Amino acid sequence: MELFSLIGEHNHEQVVFCSEPSCGYKGIIAIHNTVLGPALGGTRFWNYASDTEAFIDALRLSRGMTYKAAVAGLNLGGGKSVIIGDPKTAPREEFFRAHGRFVESLKGRYITAEDVNTSVDDMEFVAMETEHVTGRAQTSGDPSPVTAYGVYRGIKAAAMSKYGSDSLSGKTVTVQGLGHVGYYLCQNLASEGARLVVTDIDAERVQRVVHDFGAQAVEPNAIYAVEADIYAPSALGATINDETIPQLKVQIVAGAANNVLAEARHGDELHRRGILYAPDYVANAGGLINVYGELHGWTSERAMRKAGEIYSTLLRIFELSEAEGVPSYVAADRIAEQRIASIGKIQQTWV
Ligand code: NAD
Repeated sequence: MELFSLIGEHNHEQVVFCSEPSCGYKGIIAIHNTVLGPALGGTRFWNYASDTEAFIDALRLSRGMTYKAAVAGLNLGGGKSVIIGDPKTAPREEFFRAHGRFVESLKGRYITAEDVNTSVDDMEFVAMETEHVTGRAQTSGDPSPVTAYGVYRGIKAAAMSKYGSDSLSGKTVTVQGLGHVGYYLCQNLASEGARLVVTDIDAERVQRVVHDFGAQAVEPNAIYAVEADIYAPSALGATINDETIPQLKVQIVAGAANNVLAEARHGDELHRRGILYAPDYVANAGGLINVYGELHGWTSERAMRKAGEIYSTLLRIFELSEAEGVPSYVAADRIAEQRIASIGKIQQTWV
């Protein structure tokens, strides 16, 4: 493996390999791009099969954060860190304080947060060693209502683009995943008179949404083939794939889940079939907006308002996709790259 060719492939700025032999902590902090601001992204704790796999994951995830922040109009760059080890057995305080010290060594170029297998409690250990950490207890709180509101606004933008009206009254929306985000998303949709067809592998969560919003429930695998207008994937990634695309009867795919497309070519296939896809990282940016608001002392109303702008961002993306004849996920990447390039130029002036 040629380290610098992998780092250079997508123009990453910096990768830091961190080790604390006394407790067995091994971490990688990847900073993709800091043109717009400090690199922000969570810490993932995973039992990677190899160091190479961890390194590539850190590169991929940090790059994704650059695009997400850029499109959302935030002054943040993209970063991510991974800790290699078994989350079930690792000593939490030692690992996360060690991690916090390495985050501190970057003096604010990288700001961390929770991610897969890391919790608010872990971030409290990180915070003992650095102030460059967000998503702590008693700060901005659960981001899910903000994320859900952004997704809801994203669905409305997609409806506007597809049907010429953003009213969801009478539209049928299938929601997969009724967890933190999915529940609030259903609440937003129901309040506008959308008909909900929902699924989850957790029967209690299904029951709650059926009871609270009059949703109709279907079995997990039946969700793709439902006769509906909009599919809102809000559980797992990669649910748009070779098996599911032929089953879809919807005109719009817009939800909260990350990495909705199993592969980029599935985005091309949606485009070819005339199914409008709201790129995941654009639609679900509310969580990141919430964290940004925390860093800048925003009220929760202001964070909600900013998440509402996902509507106009998506309209721009759909317009560019149409004008240039490219899939929406390509258009989203272009808008992110344009913003980084143009703001980067402005910042060349000495002040
Ligand atoms: P969550 O864990 O609270 O909810 C996920 C739900 O999906 C759970 O109820 C789970 O039972 C269900 N589920 C799992 N497998 C399923 C399957 N095969 N079929 C149907 N349901 C299934 O997570 P969340 O915080 O609500 O996040 C949902 C998605 O949104 C995730 O992909 C997450 O990465 C993404 N996201 C969340 C936020 C946020 O603010 N929480 C922000 C951005 C993106």
